[in-house]
Amino acid sequence: MRLSAYFLPLLRENPSEAQIVSHRLMLRAGMIRQSSAGIYSWLPLGLRALKQVEQIVREEQDASGALEVLMPTIQPAELWQESGRYDDYGKEMLRITDRHERAMLYGPTNEEQITDIFRHSIKSYRDLPKNFYHIQWKFRDEVRPRFGVMRGREFLMKDAYSFDIDKRSAVTAYFKMFVAYMKTFKRMGLKPIPVRAETGPIGGDLSHEFHVQADTGESELYFDSDVVLLDENRIDPASLTVQDDIAGWYAATDEKHDPAEFETRVPEARRRHARGIEVGQIFYFGTKYSKPMGAVVVGPGDEPIPVEMGSYGIGVSRLVGAIIEAGHDDAGIIWPESVAPFRLGLVNLRAGDARCIAAADELYAKLCAAGIETLYDDRDESPGAKFAAMDLIGLPYQLVVGPRGIDKGVVELKERGTGKRQELSPEAALNRLGAK
Ligand code: ATP
Ligand code: MG
Repeated sequence: MRLSAYFLPLLRENPSEAQIVSHRLMLRAGMIRQSSAGIYSWLPLGLRALKQVEQIVREEQDASGALEVLMPTIQPAELWQESGRYDDYGKEMLRITDRHERAMLYGPTNEEQITDIFRHSIKSYRDLPKNFYHIQWKFRDEVRPRFGVMRGREFLMKDAYSFDIDKRSAVTAYFKMFVAYMKTFKRMGLKPIPVRAETGPIGGDLSHEFHVQADTGESELYFDSDVVLLDENRIDPASLTVQDDIAGWYAATDEKHDPAEFETRVPEARRRHARGIEVGQIFYFGTKYSKPMGAVVVGPGDEPIPVEMGSYGIGVSRLVGAIIEAGHDDAGIIWPESVAPFRLGLVNLRAGDARCIAAADELYAKLCAAGIETLYDDRDESPGAKFAAMDLIGLPYQLVVGPRGIDKGVVELKERGTGKRQELSPEAALNRLGAK
């Protein structure tokens, strides 16, 4: 993509409304634009990052065996009246009336909607287990929307819903998601901390939240520092002892924190008290929805069995902010390669110089041919402004073409994360970037 043809409305000044670094950087890097409180448009660069995050979430959900669907944002109120949550949910729910005076709502979550789909089509225990997920916008009329996309009112969530014949297999489904979540967040370059959590309005009795440690996080965590050593590849979700093992590490939100237990179970040197950003939460809640809504299957002995359910959320749009909170410096964002909106920034230092244009254009063509996602700064700007823009938007690599390099037959390759610079022939640079 040529920057001259792109839309990247960078801000030089720090926007005064942004209190935390990710919000500041997302505005300055032209990723988002606020529409109204807690509601944002995603501009081209921001949307590319969002899509990258979304795709990793999708791949790990698919790999876990969950099936992708897409449910609507607008739901009929009757479904929520059936489950009893229509009155419980409170002001966070945006309630809408259509032209026929029918009560509708903009979904804050989809337990009722998926249970309705399930009960119409799945009638036998033979069709279980099933896990459905979708990646869809949610609306929650938060009292205090803030921190940009971190606590929005409209936000993108991945939510999955599992259906099982009994508690044992439902708990297996739960830990399958636990493992998928660890893999998902690690692929994004994060170090997730899974903590025991309260179930809140979703209900149920088994729940974990996944947090990214950050001083700006809204949650307070207490945990054994050894939790970060957890290797999800060694967790067998079907093992009956796995639940005990995971409950065996001390890691809890402040609501679940027990200071006495913390002191007896965790040696002082490993006790951590930190703030975290909640990027996901999983719940096992049994028959909370299947009973009132009649999601019942016929069991092996022809007996009716209300299915055992769980639900599993990931804050896809919040993750973009959380990844920036975890990866930035004074100059701007530092994207992990897996979620970067482009892999490389190609900079022509002299937009008015025919030799520079020819060399940069040729490199750009080769990068495109090699499938390396490149943002090509071909604008007529000062070198200082170009370097600052590249550092701000934080692409993993920068490749700089300038007149002095051309004389020597080299280009400069910079790694954004380490700041390491290297002069290489254009061919060697292409090789380093993985082009053939
Ligand atoms: P929080 O405690 O942060 O309000 P929650 O526990 O109400 O979140 P869940 O119902 O668990 O949220 O939703 C699943 C995920 O969706 C959360 O883990 C979080 O990452 C994301 N999420 C929830 N609310 C918001 C929001 N207002 N803006 C952006 N993401 C959100
Ligand atoms: Mg939650």
